Amino acid sequence: MKTLRIWTVAALWCCTGIAAYGQVASYSTQAITKDLAYFSDWTASALAEGFKSKQLKTFSSPLMRRLAEQLDEGTYQSRYLLNSYKPVASDKVLEKHLKLDNGYSRYENITGVYLEQGENVVLVGDLHGREVGLLIPDWMRQPTPGYKPTQDPEGWGLKKQRIALHEGVNVIYVEKAGNVYVDYFADDPEIAPAVTIHFVTGRVNGYFDAETQTNEDWKHLLDHAVGPVMDVKTRYMQLAYPVEYLKKFRYNEGKELAEAYDKIMLQQYTFNGAVKYGRIPPKRILARVNFNYFMFRDGDVVAFLGNEGTMKSALGPDIYTDWGVNHEIGHVMQMRPQLTWGGMTEVSNNLFTMYVASQAGKPSRLGKSKNYEKAFANVLDAAQKPFIMCVSDPFEKLVPFWQLYLYAKRKGYADFYADLMEHMRNHPDKGRGNASINNMYEFAKVSCDLLKTDLTDFFEAWGFFVTGKFEIGDYSHYTFNVTPEMVEETKRYIAGKNYPKPAEDVTRLTD
Ligand SMILES: [Zn+2]
Repeated sequence: MKTLRIWTVAALWCCTGIAAYGQVASYSTQAITKDLAYFSDWTASALAEGFKSKQLKTFSSPLMRRLAEQLDEGTYQSRYLLNSYKPVASDKVLEKHLKLDNGYSRYENITGVYLEQGENVVLVGDLHGREVGLLIPDWMRQPTPGYKPTQDPEGWGLKKQRIALHEGVNVIYVEKAGNVYVDYFADDPEIAPAVTIHFVTGRVNGYFDAETQTNEDWKHLLDHAVGPVMDVKTRYMQLAYPVEYLKKFRYNEGKELAEAYDKIMLQQYTFNGAVKYGRIPPKRILARVNFNYFMFRDGDVVAFLGNEGTMKSALGPDIYTDWGVNHEIGHVMQMRPQLTWGGMTEVSNNLFTMYVASQAGKPSRLGKSKNYEKAFANVLDAAQKPFIMCVSDPFEKLVPFWQLYLYAKRKGYADFYADLMEHMRNHPDKGRGNASINNMYEFAKVSCDLLKTDLTDFFEAWGFFVTGKFEIGDYSHYTFNVTPEMVEETKRYIAGKNYPKPAEDVTRLTD
């Protein structure tokens, strides 16, 4: 379950599309522009006042004539094809809410429209000086033939075409057919204007808005999808999974599918204090299919392999308690570098995973997999104590961090990590890269402050205070130089608070 720390720059589909010679629709911008005179506005949302049916024969563009005919007859189905789109809150807004700098969906402005490969006509109203485009991701991209999927020279990432839009008539060339999304983000989403977009040549795939639609709507959508992928909008997430697997695992349960993901999100937002401190961002995390690797998190958020077994994890009845799904979403939620200094990438996200599992009444993974015993042997009782970030097994490394939660809970303080992360959101980090280890000592201090306990012995026992020069591989490479001064400063800070020592041995706490 990997995290791609270096985001693959999504190469455009430029030049890879195979031109379909022959029956290709072609549109004249000039002819369409001329015909706009018969409509009430640039987006051709209605016919001009006083329009007469006999004017149909004077049209220059067959496409616009067909549209006018349908509008005249009252048969035009504009529900998905013609809409106004408000911007999605930018990552700057996300930063303000949760101090996370990426990881939410880039495709949140779902249209429900499917565009065929080749020329398409998109009419755009006033943009008010905003930058607006279209995104057509290749959700179903298959690995490059001749390579193992995990060794795909194209990488595992999502490929997409981005098309910039301008006001008026846009004759665009779609490299590869697919669901289209409006690329419109703003730092001021509450006051930024909506933009009207009309996909005149679009086909309706639709999308499921789980908060407003029913399971009957859901089944209808799956049965009438024109593309291979159905979009789902839940309260906190966006899903892009193959219609085939949605039918197989959730044909009758679109709402339940959405609710399972939202339940995970709400628990994770509870754990990090977003609920307590009113910080849930007005943005969604994306879960999508991929065909390269089991499960991972990258710049296009969390991806699950499009095979029977993994799709069952991502869509089946046990999503809420699925370790992998929670783990990948945890990768989006883990604060970096304040709770994710070098060595913590596969650790701090599992605090979220452990939390949801415990809330769901699942047995502790650390207990079940004997990670406590192993960590006790390899760290607490080791002849030569390792530096905690040098413990190679991420589950063993997780033990002391989870023990602090268990200790807090026993003290009736289940909000410990919520408050800790709120503190981090309100204070600057203590360094990045090779200096990121300073965040660990800050973590130790703030933990003592919040728990009002002198945990010096606890951190000592767990190897937080081992000094030396350490090389840590954690997707990136880190060289940590932990000096006696750093450790002394931390211990002095804690001692200065005169907190009592814990009443029990926290290092041996298990669940
Ligand atoms: Zn992972």
